[in-house]
Amino acid sequence: MEKIKLTMQHIKVIIANNLFVFRLAWSMHPQRVLADFAVQAGRQLANVFFSVYFMKYIIESISIEREFQQVVYFIIMTLVLIFALILLDNWYEYRFRPLSDLKLYEKLYLILFRKAASVELKCFEDHEFYNKYTKAIQEADQRVSAVLENLSRVIFVSLATISIFAVMYAIDPWVVWFALFPIVGNFYFGKKLNRIQFQQNNERVPYQRKMDYVNRVIYLSHFAKEIRLSRIFSVLRNTYIEGYDGAISVVHKYRVKAGVVSFFKIFTTFTLIFQGVLLYGAYLAIVKQSISISSFIVLGSAMVGGAWSLIRLSDSFVEINKNGIYIENLKTFLSYVSEIQEHSDSVKLIAPPIQQLSFRHIYFTYDGAEEATIRDITIEVNKNEKIALVGHNGAGKSTLIKLMMRLYDPTEGEILWNGQNIKEFDLLSYRSMFGTIFQDFKIFSMTIAENVLMRDLVSEADRQLVISALQKSRVYDKVASLPKGIDTMLTKEFDDQGVVLSGGEFQKIAIARIFAQQAEILVLDEPTSALDPIAEYEIFESMMEACTDKAVVIISHRMSSAMLADRIYFMEDGEIRESGSHIELMQLQGKYAELFLKQAEKYVDQEELAGVVNLHEA
Ligand code: ADP
Repeated sequence: MEKIKLTMQHIKVIIANNLFVFRLAWSMHPQRVLADFAVQAGRQLANVFFSVYFMKYIIESISIEREFQQVVYFIIMTLVLIFALILLDNWYEYRFRPLSDLKLYEKLYLILFRKAASVELKCFEDHEFYNKYTKAIQEADQRVSAVLENLSRVIFVSLATISIFAVMYAIDPWVVWFALFPIVGNFYFGKKLNRIQFQQNNERVPYQRKMDYVNRVIYLSHFAKEIRLSRIFSVLRNTYIEGYDGAISVVHKYRVKAGVVSFFKIFTTFTLIFQGVLLYGAYLAIVKQSISISSFIVLGSAMVGGAWSLIRLSDSFVEINKNGIYIENLKTFLSYVSEIQEHSDSVKLIAPPIQQLSFRHIYFTYDGAEEATIRDITIEVNKNEKIALVGHNGAGKSTLIKLMMRLYDPTEGEILWNGQNIKEFDLLSYRSMFGTIFQDFKIFSMTIAENVLMRDLVSEADRQLVISALQKSRVYDKVASLPKGIDTMLTKEFDDQGVVLSGGEFQKIAIARIFAQQAEILVLDEPTSALDPIAEYEIFESMMEACTDKAVVIISHRMSSAMLADRIYFMEDGEIRESGSHIELMQLQGKYAELFLKQAEKYVDQEELAGVVNLHEA
């Protein structure tokens, strides 16, 4: 009973999942759904017609002595039908489907990308969700059309199979029992064969991984230098050979078993029904004389068509199971509701210009973490104020910034924008108040100008904005020296003429992004780590000059840069330990002063530090 319940449950899930994809495909591209169904209906109509009625008509014509001309007309009509179906099939396969695949995927990917861009960051840290999400995206281009095709196939092949076996039943009720052979053959032995292949593939995985790893390492550009400058290639070659030998041994291990099961699968699926129906039909016609010769011939022809329909049907059920896992991933991903919603039903306010941003007793614990990362933090950033967050790695500085921009919501406490809880604002309008650059910023394979603006350039004013931003981040001289200037493509991914700049230059281009934004608060989360202290100091200084009318929050592990801020917050273990200006904190002789002096001692080049301090004092 339990098993039946489980099976019913399983069937319900399968139907619901397939309907989910059907509805999704229908909403994106209804013509595609109709075409899939029409083509499948045409194919199965032809299958039934040729399996049963064609033969029946011809044989009947002989036994009832139809006029020859009538038979010729019938055959001509049949040829017209075949011709029309071939045209329909060709049009569908070679013209409609390739174009409609692109259209379907474009729409599907836009839906997936939009969803991916809107789910909150914590989803990327949830492995289970992340796996579903990557699989939903990776396989989307084949799976959705596979589900659609399979669905139409199941429906029309079922109808065709029923029609063919109905005709066989009418000739002799017992003959339909032969249908069990292909069902058992394809299902039972097919399942066994699949299991063997599954085991074989599973055992091959570690070996295949080795081969894949070597493949990847050989073609990925960031391994190219090491491979050329060392003897690592011979190790990689051996790894590949180990993988290859292992994969071969697995194939040998399952060779005989797979061969035997495959033999039984073919024997029961094809031989028993083919030979069995003919033998039984011959018995009925010759010994029992209960059926005519024409019925015997129709039986033989229907049996071939019926057997193939059954095989196709059982393959489709296997396919349904395979697609089910994919659909589950897609469904989970698409129906995920973000806790931090981009749009919500309630009317949300547009964030006004900043007067003050304040944290009130904020606590925050990452999902799955045992301890709070942020503890009882109360800080504020006022209009036009320059703030520095300093502290050792892991103190919680980046987390604080992410909370500030609502990439996460605090576990406790409130963040207020001009006295109003930030949750009351429309998320996009709130986030657009920030111009942010993170330590792990990304450079896109696009032009320098697009990398700075982070959108298309639409006017001359945009070009001027890019140039002025690059000047402020002190990299314009370099960009101007390139033949295509701000239109230079970064990286060589799409363009051989694309340039690869130094780490520091890439950082300056990324920093230019925040100068090009109309943001109210600029946030720099250690984006300058590849720069030397003087270059970092100069960029921060230029930023302070260029942003007198903006609030700025800087995170840097270099105390020399923090000196530029109006107020410094020193963080440790998720708490603010000290706050004040550089001079106040030095006078306090607390943790900030201690770290400042320690860093000063550690500078490899004391002159560099002296340079920075002199710049500050000047
Ligand atoms: P900082 O910017 O001061 O170096 P972070 O805010 O990056 O510090 O990290 C503070 C603490 O939170 C660290 O212990 C870090 O391991 C942890 N942490 C950071 N990001 C995550 C995350 N996504 N999931 C769980 N823990 C995290």
